[in-house]
Amino acid sequence: MTALKQEIAATIAHEGPMTLEQYMGLCLGHPRHGYYMTRDPFGAAGDFVTAPEISQMFGELVGVWASEAWRLAGSPSPARLIELGPGRGTLMSDVLRVSRIAPAFLEAVSVHLVETSPRLRAVQERTLANAGKPVSWSADVADTPPGPAFILANEFFDALPVRHYVNTAQGWRERLVGVDAMGELVFGLPDTVESSLNAPAREGSIIEVSAVAQRIMGEIAARLVREGGALLVIDYGYLETSLGDSLQAVAKHAYVDPLASPGEADLTTHVDFAALGRAAKAAGAKVMGPVTQAHFLLQLGIERRAEALMRRATPEQQQSIASAFHRLTGTQDPRHQMGELFKVMAVTHPDMPDMPGFIV
Ligand code: SAH
Repeated sequence: MTALKQEIAATIAHEGPMTLEQYMGLCLGHPRHGYYMTRDPFGAAGDFVTAPEISQMFGELVGVWASEAWRLAGSPSPARLIELGPGRGTLMSDVLRVSRIAPAFLEAVSVHLVETSPRLRAVQERTLANAGKPVSWSADVADTPPGPAFILANEFFDALPVRHYVNTAQGWRERLVGVDAMGELVFGLPDTVESSLNAPAREGSIIEVSAVAQRIMGEIAARLVREGGALLVIDYGYLETSLGDSLQAVAKHAYVDPLASPGEADLTTHVDFAALGRAAKAAGAKVMGPVTQAHFLLQLGIERRAEALMRRATPEQQQSIASAFHRLTGTQDPRHQMGELFKVMAVTHPDMPDMPGFIV
């Protein structure tokens, strides 16, 4: 039994079953045992691989997008370049390197990373030590300095905790995490019915509600409306709010039971882009997309970038560039290719013109 499982079981014994939101929050963010607090989960040796870790092309195109967003916003100075959940810092490192071709942008922005894990923050510090720009950290986007902001979020929203509601004969009830007679963590339903929920659905249907993600989106959108700028969200997810449980746990590149080893596996859900879009629009922001990652990267010129890299590469490197290109943009095999599964959405000040990557 993991130390965190013991602690969670003790809390449940004392206070009763906990919400999935509480459980996910502890699994990912517990100060001592949380998944992101204790490890660097990225890369071939870790639990999963993200787009910036697959190829520099990803961060370079996101960087081109960010400097273009800044230009279309009227080249404000000073401005902020902010990343939410930067992992190893690879994306920001590639963004800053490619931005040397847009020196006015690089000159205008100060760089801020929003990260809750001290362990990953240390990795980010190393990655960005020679990036040529000072970097500051905070644990909450609300603590970044004011001003027009260009905000990047790759695989950030999928790591935020959700709540589940299950339809029963008596109505919707919240799915809770409890402990069974053997001391194992199990899902269960309380007696109380959520009277505010009355969506028609078959018995046993599950609704997943991303209240934390929607709150963060609402706050960021309000800031962009007030101060100008744009947010780019890249994540796996679905376009329309739909029924169903998308919670998944991954350890060492394999799916595992989300209740089996809290703190040892990454817990994520598919991002509900429609709900995020509604939260952004409710705050008065403009929403572009979501489009597929393939659409976004192809429109920003990933083919030309791959060709340019190929010209200077050894045959072995050429193979790895081609393989990264297919992994990032492929739509045939969703288990290995990200082109269709991953979606991209921009949230901006209402006056922002339509932006590259989102023209359909
Ligand atoms: N963007 C990176 C990493 C994605 S993993 C990449 O694409 O490789 C999720 C990241 O979000 C990790 O850095 C994790 O520590 C961070 N994170 C998770 N929950 C967070 C929260 N509530 N606030 C800030 N950062 C968070």
